[in-house]
Amino acid sequence: MLEYSVKQRMNNRKTQSILATLCRPIINKISKLLGLPTIEHLEYQLYQKTEQLEQISAHQRAIYQVISKIRASLDLETIFRTTTKETCRLLGVERVSVYRFSEDWGGQFVGDFEFTEPSWDNYGKLGKNTIWNDSYLQEHEGGRYIHNETFVVEDIYKAGLSQCHLEMLEQFHIRAFATAPIFVKQKLWGILAAYQHSRPNNWQVSEVKFLTQVSAQLGIALQQAEQLAEVEQKAKYLRENSQQQTILFNLISEIRESLDFDTLCQTTVKEIRKALLCDRVGLFHFDPGSNYCFGEFVAESVLPAYNSALLHKVQDNCFGEQFAIQYQKERIQVLDDIYNAGLKDCHLKLLEKFQIKAQIIVPLMIGSTLWGLLCIHQCENTRKWTENEIRFVKQLAAQFSVALEHSHLLAQTRSQAEELAKTLDAFQEANYKLENLARVDGLTQIPNRRYFDEFLDLEWRRLVREKQCLSLIMFDVDHFKLYNDFYGHQAGDQCLVKIAQTAKEIVKRPVDLLARYGGEEFAVILPNTDENGASVVAEQIQSAIKDLGIPNYRSEKQIVTLSLGIATQIPLVDRTPQELILEADQALYQAKQQGRDCCLHFKILEKDVVNG
Ligand code: GH3
Ligand code: MG
Ligand code: MG
Repeated sequence: MLEYSVKQRMNNRKTQSILATLCRPIINKISKLLGLPTIEHLEYQLYQKTEQLEQISAHQRAIYQVISKIRASLDLETIFRTTTKETCRLLGVERVSVYRFSEDWGGQFVGDFEFTEPSWDNYGKLGKNTIWNDSYLQEHEGGRYIHNETFVVEDIYKAGLSQCHLEMLEQFHIRAFATAPIFVKQKLWGILAAYQHSRPNNWQVSEVKFLTQVSAQLGIALQQAEQLAEVEQKAKYLRENSQQQTILFNLISEIRESLDFDTLCQTTVKEIRKALLCDRVGLFHFDPGSNYCFGEFVAESVLPAYNSALLHKVQDNCFGEQFAIQYQKERIQVLDDIYNAGLKDCHLKLLEKFQIKAQIIVPLMIGSTLWGLLCIHQCENTRKWTENEIRFVKQLAAQFSVALEHSHLLAQTRSQAEELAKTLDAFQEANYKLENLARVDGLTQIPNRRYFDEFLDLEWRRLVREKQCLSLIMFDVDHFKLYNDFYGHQAGDQCLVKIAQTAKEIVKRPVDLLARYGGEEFAVILPNTDENGASVVAEQIQSAIKDLGIPNYRSEKQIVTLSLGIATQIPLVDRTPQELILEADQALYQAKQQGRDCCLHFKILEKDVVNG
């Protein structure tokens, strides 16, 4: 049954086709008579329509693909390359370019693609980065494009274009073109242009529509790319900012720690150069009293490729006369390009000496006084300093100024402390001298009576604790009155000096003390010394003076001699040193009584008394 119906249908079709072929001439004749199109004509129209539909569908597919490709990237370069290449391919034209308007409605090509065929010249004049300032568009601020219109020219010589427009097109060998505006956020951004160089081009409506659609999509892609760039810029700014904040924080800590001036300067320049990746950072210090006309770099961190600015005396009268006051009011100078800043020749020469191409100069203050300048130099090329960098440098300069002030104060305090120490030394020295004066006998330069009393008192008490012997020798010049009378008072003085010096040679132990007790009477304190030891010292003194052989013409012995009295005690708490003095004095008195030039011990006297 099924087999039958299929066969039946095939037979029906064959019959219809045979009928159509047979009937075609008849139908055509009738159609001609009726003024209607022939079957061939209808067939041709149908073919054309199908072709058009297929083309439209191909365009739609192509546009979809192009749009997907455009949208696939957020990088401008890739977007332009994809757009121009794909559009060029789909339209089958020789060139497609993206043109971007500048602020003044001039502009330049930012993207370009051309099919280079051997048959025609490569019109290299046109292409990426070519600047094209169309005075008409400039005057009319975007002209027709601002109204979102396209511009289609099949043949520039048949489009009634103005002479200047024609010349411009000829310059780039453009014969036919179709252009569509590109809008980014309702603002006319640029133009998408398709060019034919070698011949005129009959632009199809679908082709122009395609160009318009691509330009609209390009606008959206650009908007997205711009947004992304903005976000990236913000992220970069934040990243840089946070990096700089970290550097700033570390640097401030380092600056704060280095109160020593040189370390402070070295740390500052080194760290700033590292942070800003610039070619030189210098600290310039004005010579005090030069009215800001002279100065020099006191610290520097510079790349080896550039001259060192250190130790160069800089003279800049303009600065002193004009700018110092402004810098004192926190003016800063930011030059991206020294040749584009309207600087005077002399100033330029100064900067050129140090190969500077861009710089930031910030004042460094101590309180309200301009101490110097923080100089940031770029030498390799010009540099667009960012807001971020400028703020960073300002913050650093402020921190450096604080540290500078600290170090200045510290230096002041140090020098004040040194001054104080010197004064104290001088004071102590004077005190010592005074004390010495109070303790030393002016004539003989040996300890005086006052010091003798203090010393004896001290040793007495010490030996009370130690329970050790303390001996005292008192000696007096024999017949000194006669000496004075005969040789004069001055000679008497010299004689006393000689006696003191000679006795001093004998009393060498540091714990012993020789003193002038008064007039021509001397005393020797001998701690930890018993009577035998004391007798030895006394006899040494006696014979040493005698050995001097100082003549005393009118005395019995004809020379200067001494009488000596010795006393020895183990000091006790309930006794006083005065008793010891008294005993020694008594022994001396006895020595005088016994004919002078002799030495007597009080203990022996006592024994004598007991024995006697
Ligand atoms: P004696 O042997 O008994 O000690 O006889 P003396 O003449 O030394 O004793 P006296 O006490 O009578 O005389 C002491 C003299 O020493 C009196 C005084 O002029 C003299 N004299 C005391 N101090 C100084 C002094 O500083 N310089 C001089 N040139 N003479 C002095
Ligand atoms: Mg005497
Ligand atoms: Mg005397």
